[in-house]
Amino acid sequence: MPDDTDTASAGAGADPEDAFALIGNETRAAILRALGETPHEGVSFSDLRSRVDAEMDSGQFNYHLSQLVGQFVDRDDDGYTLRSEGLALYRQIRAGTFNRRAAVEPFEIGLDCYFCGAPVEGEYEDGTFELRCPGCDHVYSHAQLPPSTVETGDVQNLLERVDQYNRHEMLAYARGVCPTCVSPLDTEFVRGEDVWSEGSERFDVFVGSECDHCGARHYMSVGLAVLYHPAVVAFFHDHGVDVTSRPHWELAWAMTDESLTVRDTDPWEVALEVERDGETLELVVDEDVSVEASRS
Ligand SMILES: [Zn+2]
Ligand SMILES: [Zn+2]
Repeated sequence: MPDDTDTASAGAGADPEDAFALIGNETRAAILRALGETPHEGVSFSDLRSRVDAEMDSGQFNYHLSQLVGQFVDRDDDGYTLRSEGLALYRQIRAGTFNRRAAVEPFEIGLDCYFCGAPVEGEYEDGTFELRCPGCDHVYSHAQLPPSTVETGDVQNLLERVDQYNRHEMLAYARGVCPTCVSPLDTEFVRGEDVWSEGSERFDVFVGSECDHCGARHYMSVGLAVLYHPAVVAFFHDHGVDVTSRPHWELAWAMTDESLTVRDTDPWEVALEVERDGETLELVVDEDVSVEASRS
């Protein structure tokens, strides 16, 4: 397909405000929940009404249901089902994104701060999971996650899940894809002192991305941006380490700039050196996050 051909024509969807108003109604939210419980099964009008509110007048119920059809709900010969938009919304509601509150008091994660030596702590509050050093305030990880993140599993399991979730998000950014809206992104190198985050001035450079489409913005160290490069995965694998499953905050070479040398700033070129059992992996990275790797 030629580059200048649009792969999809963006239809004139409803305004976001209207979409939220649609499900702001109790009956319509209940319809969404009822259909979400059997996502791939058509439900008849009468069955749906009895699942939502058997007492409700049929005309009134029909009014609410018809408001959802087209936007969140489909109707065919088998009955009513959720459209993919409705299903996505239903899953967000189930995850508690909009309507539940959860908090986890600060707890030690078993890592000493690379900068000051204090035990790094994890905390969940107001929909944000953060790993932070209470000694020097350095932020190791910061992610907006739904309450369901902390509602199941023990602390160790929580940390493993957060690590995996963050890794997948970082991989998408590193490969030029917005993990929120799947738009293409450009990466750029940004000086540490120009990034607003506690402790960012301790880094020479970050890999930054900003999504013009949805406004998502993200910064990560060069080490984190190359975490899934085949040369990195293979190097660690050859030395008996699965670098894809060890919590990323335990990888000092990726969490600090101590293994990084800035070779040029116009255009940017940096070198990362990782050593393991006497072997060194050198990665030369430019600001498109393309990598030249060599071992010695
Ligand atoms: Zn610290
Ligand atoms: Zn986006």
